[in-house]
Amino acid sequence: MDSVFLDVRGLNISFSGTGRDVRVVRDLSLQLKKGECLGLVGESGCGKTVTGLAVAGALKYPECKVEGSIRFLSDRYNKAPHNIKRKRIAMVYQEGMAALNPVLTVKKQMTELIRFHCRLSSGDALVRARQLLQRVGFNDVDDILRRFPGELSGGMAQRVCLAMALCCEPEILIADEPTTALDTINSAIVMKALAVLKKEMDLAVILISHDLAAVAQSCDRLLVMYMGKVVEEGSTWELLSTPLHPYSRRLIETFFALEEGRHDIEPIRGQVPGYHELPMGCAFYPRCEEASENCSIYEPELLKISENRKVACHLYSGRNKGAL
Ligand code: SF4
Repeated sequence: MDSVFLDVRGLNISFSGTGRDVRVVRDLSLQLKKGECLGLVGESGCGKTVTGLAVAGALKYPECKVEGSIRFLSDRYNKAPHNIKRKRIAMVYQEGMAALNPVLTVKKQMTELIRFHCRLSSGDALVRARQLLQRVGFNDVDDILRRFPGELSGGMAQRVCLAMALCCEPEILIADEPTTALDTINSAIVMKALAVLKKEMDLAVILISHDLAAVAQSCDRLLVMYMGKVVEEGSTWELLSTPLHPYSRRLIETFFALEEGRHDIEPIRGQVPGYHELPMGCAFYPRCEEASENCSIYEPELLKISENRKVACHLYSGRNKGAL
């Protein structure tokens, strides 16, 4: 793996649609290296998707404020204008079927996209579309090109979206819950296509998922998010085998118990709070079984505790005094 080429620091994202500012991503930093797969995990609503959208430059709404620095450090594109750099990042969303136009064939949608972004003739765009479909694992590409989205399975539609996302030869691919609506076999096919692309194109991938089995197979490193903040960071194997933050522990324990068909595990107590009613101190404090008095007063910082490990919890900051 290469040196860092995406460097996000102090990212804060807030929405003001309701007349007041609601901060949904809080002081998030992440670094991504070439060829690396970084997983963003956590429950729905923890800020994973908005983080991906902000990095891809797709959060352009007047009600949305994005602060912090997002830097692309690629040698190839360092001197390129901002909009060219943005093309080096592509995003695929959950439910590929919904992302495709139901009344246009795959051929029409792909060739128009390629002609628009790559400025190619119709003939060259078709050649490129065939290559891209082969890249995501289709054998009979002409059959796929002839079809309307309704004639594709969910897994096929997701791979078509993946092929379309590759049309500008991105360096970073952000995959947002790419297997959410798929059955086990189609999920495996899509994840395999992603792994092959990552290797063949030396792509860096940010995989946004709540499926810890998928991230365990694909990711080199993980960031665990809770209420818009990174609460733990580490190599995938280390983090999944020895989670340090109480939230990561419960998340991992619950996920794998359910995967094994066990229902003997208690859910995390309490409710996820709304962003407008975040508690003082640690946001996980009302639900944490290991909380101390200080947890309700001081917000823990994400501290480096070993070479590849960071955690935001007073159990490791020396402030876990005064048990409740
Ligand atoms: Fe629990 Fe306190 Fe750690 Fe928050 S800081 S996770 S409340 S022990």
